[in-house]
Formats: sequence, C-alpha cells, structure tokens
Amino acid sequence: MLDQQTLEYPHGVNFINNAWVPSSGEGVETLNPADKDDIVGIVPDSTREDVEAAISAAEHALPGWARTPGPVRGDILRRWSDLIGENLEDLARLMTREMGKPLAESRGELGRARMELEYAAGEGTRIHGTTIPSRAPGQLVYTEREPIGVVAAITPWNFPAVAPVRKIAPALIFGNTVVLKPALETPLTALALAALLREAGLPEGVLNVVTGRGSKVGTQLTEDRRIAGVSFTGSTGVGRTVNEAVARRMGAVQLELGGKNAAYVHSAEDLRTVAAEITSAAIQATGQRCTSISRVLVREEIADDLVAILTETWSGLQVGPGDAEGTVVGPLVNHAQLTKVSGYVRQGIEEGAVRTTPDRQIPDGLYYAPTILDHVTRDMTVAREEIFGPVLTITRVKDVDEAIDIVNDTDYGLAAAVFSEDLDLVMRFSRETRAGMIHVNHGTVSQPHVPFGGVKESGLGAFSIGLTNADFFTQTKVVYLKHSSGSQPGKAVSGRRGLTLDNGTDPA
Ligand code: NAD
Repeated sequence: MLDQQTLEYPHGVNFINNAWVPSSGEGVETLNPADKDDIVGIVPDSTREDVEAAISAAEHALPGWARTPGPVRGDILRRWSDLIGENLEDLARLMTREMGKPLAESRGELGRARMELEYAAGEGTRIHGTTIPSRAPGQLVYTEREPIGVVAAITPWNFPAVAPVRKIAPALIFGNTVVLKPALETPLTALALAALLREAGLPEGVLNVVTGRGSKVGTQLTEDRRIAGVSFTGSTGVGRTVNEAVARRMGAVQLELGGKNAAYVHSAEDLRTVAAEITSAAIQATGQRCTSISRVLVREEIADDLVAILTETWSGLQVGPGDAEGTVVGPLVNHAQLTKVSGYVRQGIEEGAVRTTPDRQIPDGLYYAPTILDHVTRDMTVAREEIFGPVLTITRVKDVDEAIDIVNDTDYGLAAAVFSEDLDLVMRFSRETRAGMIHVNHGTVSQPHVPFGGVKESGLGAFSIGLTNADFFTQTKVVYLKHSSGSQPGKAVSGRRGLTLDNGTDPA
C-alpha cells in the first residue's frame, strides 16, 4: 500500500526540496482517459517563480550530492527501487488511471523501470576513469568522470514511470541534480515516484519536479544557463525547438524522439509467430510507443497470408478500460490523440489504402479500434508520418532491396525489425537500414540494460540506458599530476616542429 504520509498528493503543488510546495499557477486537471468524469489530480501550470525555485534548489544541492560517494548514491537508488516494488500495485493503478494503458502493461512498465534503476544504481561502483602514460617523467595523467551539473529532464506521457526513471536514475548516480518536468497528461506517477525517492533517503533539492505546459515551463528550463544538460524525450518537432534553445547557450542535449518503425517480413517458417511478434510490438500502449512497429513491409509472395492472419488477430483484440479484465487495447491518452489517429486513417483511405479490419463495436470514449491498412504505398502520408495509435500499414515489396530502400525513405531512424532465416539477408538488412536499433526475428522490444536510441530525426546525442548513460550524464576531466619522484625540470631545445621541451611536452 502507498504510504499515505508521503504519497498523498495535495493538489496544486510542486515537489521542491523534498517538500510539496504550493504554486500560484493555474491548476490543470489530469483526467482519466477511460472515464472523463474521473479527475485523477490537479497539478499546477507552474509559474516562472516555481521553476526558478526548483532550479535554485537543484543548484544548491549539487556540490553535496556530487561529493557523495557513487556507491552511497547507488544505495539510495536501490532503496528507491525496493519502494517502487513494495508500492507496485498502487503505482500501476495510478498509471493506468492517468494514462489509460492496460494494468498488466503498467505493472510491466514499473518492473522495467526497476531494472533500469538497478542497473544505474550499480554504475555507482563503476564510475571509471583512465590512466594515460605520461610522456613527461614524474607525472601521472588520468581522467575522471564528473557530473555535468543540474540536469533538466523533460518527459512524455506514454511511459509515465519509465520515462522519468530513465533520466533521473542515471543523472543522480553520476552526481548530477535534477529538475523534472513530466508531461501534463501524466504528472501524478512522476510525483509519486519523487515522494518515494524522498522516502528512500534522497537529500533535499537533489530531485525537484515542476509540472506545467511545455511551451512555458519546458521553455524556461531549456533557456536557463544554470541547466547544464537537457535530457528530452518527446516528439521530433518539440525536440528540434529544445535543441535550438539549448544550443544557443552551448548546453548539452540528449534527444529521444519519434519513430516510424518498420518490420520487413521476408520469410518465416511460421507466419503466425511473426504476426504475434508484430502485433505485440505494434499494439502495446495502444500503439503510443516510440518504438511501435507501425509499418509492415512484406514480400509479395507471402503478403496475402500475413495480412489474413494479422487481420484476424487485430479484429479480436479486446478494447476497453485499462483496468478491465482482458483488455489488450486501452483508450488513447486524450482527445487530440483520437482526432489525430482517426484523421490519419481517413487520409490513408482517401489516398488509396484498403482497410482490412472490419468496423466493430467498441466502447464510447477515447477508444479506437485496432486498424490495418493494406496496399499502402511508400508515398502515402500514413507510410511516412508517426501515427502513434493502434494502426498498422502494410506495404508489399518485391525483395529486400526494395524493403531497405523504403525503410530508409523516412526522416526517422529509431527501430526496425526483419524476419527471415537467411543470415546473409538479415546481416545486410541490419547494416544497411538507418536505425538506432535493429531486431531480428522478433518485435521491437528492448532490454533494460542495453543502449537505446535513434538516428536521423529520431534522436540526437548519447543513447540512453546501459553503458551509454555515462556519455551524457558525465563530463571528462583530465588531470596532469606532477609528483616529485622522477620529476625533471624541462630544458628548451629546438625540434623539427619548432620549440619543444626535452621532456617531450608541447610548450602550449
Ligand atoms: P511532446 O513533444 O508533445 O512533449 C514531450 C514533453 O515536452 C512534454 O513534457 C511537453 O510538455 C514538453 N514540451 C512541449 N513543448 C515544449 C517546449 N517548447 N520546450 C520544452 N518542452 C516542451 O511529446 P508527447 O506527445 O508527450 O510524446 C509523444 C512523442 O514522444 C512521440 O513522438 C514519441 O515517439 C516520442 N517518444 C520518444 C521516445 C524515445 O525514446 N525515442 C520515447 C517515448 C516517446
């Protein structure tokens, strides 16, 4: 059970310096997508003063936290993971209530968040530098990894727990402090997680959460010079704006953006297994996943068989509230998403796509029946833009050459999948497709300790998760340490490239 002392959210407050701090900003209702009358919470559209207070708190806490030994920071993160585990059921219900995803997925997401967190906690014992042989005698040359400073974490609504944890955990383990701005659709899971981190023993000011509109709160965070780095996950359009704002003041960015992820089906012993892999990767979070498979490219010879299986499967997927028994496809997160998804399907049909899934009865509200569009050509809008809903397009291709060409013919480059037993073919596909992550003979499901990210307009900066976390959340410092043993004063001599010192170092 949630600890009522720490987790009960007293509407209209931010989390600053480990306390719920009232805001004078307008209150914004977080609504349950499965029940328009259910107000899950009211959070502030924070003011400039709120954001200022959060940044100041993080700045103030930075020196102490950076000095805290890495393994000790790791102990706090592990306690946080334990507390998430102890409160998992209540957190999962909160997440389903504010975002809409099926309860089983919410539980799975929290389990995944814990795994990413535990990997990050272990990094506290592995913040390695290097020693470099010194050309000058009597000098020790080494590198250390230092925190970059105050990090702003800006997250989307589709993964209310994983998205914040994926930024907070690595930022903290490497000694940074954080200001988190969660999406306005799903701030309550993030606030509950912050309260648990306080209970785990996090010192004041190390994590601060301010809620509000991206155009206001997000912009302020990206423009503030005290924010050393912005780790942003969201749409490519907003990512571009964030990048421009941070670049102007020479800050660091990590951008995890949208995708138009393709699966190419070349051959398979069992097309039913392929269809199940594609369906699972396409439909989770009601298709509102950055790595959702949203387009299938299939070899002409097997296309009719695959489309028939997919159509049968998708026609039977149970649509309903996330907390109802048997639900596989929950509501879309809000009205704007519903309008966007239905608009894309309408446009696809107008442009010549054929809908294979029948009209069927689904509950009223923000639901959209899982939809397959066949005979989609590469130039149609539905083949090129991120739909972010339970929609799968089918494009028939001659061979792997055409498939690779079409996979690469988009602005995105996040994930791609290929199904074939031909090793040469899959190696070629994985080398020639421009995507950050390639999945062979399975859907686009990633693992919690493996680097994650995209290329082209799907991402910029270091990948997140696993080994690559240190690339964004630390900076390198080089130390030249001259010690007495073996040290010799340098004597100027003339060398081929001008003046050098006899100990081999450059006079610069
Ligand atoms: P979004 O870009 O609308 O918003 C993301 C976050 O940015 C929110 O917190 C929002 O308030 C904030 N924001 C909005 N305008 C801003 C501005 N001008 N400056 C700073 N912050 C601003 O995205 P969304 O609708 O919440 O999420 C869906 C998108 O996220 C999809 O495109 C999806 O593919 C992408 N996504 C990518 C990944 C990944 O790892 N690559 C993961 C999840 C989601």
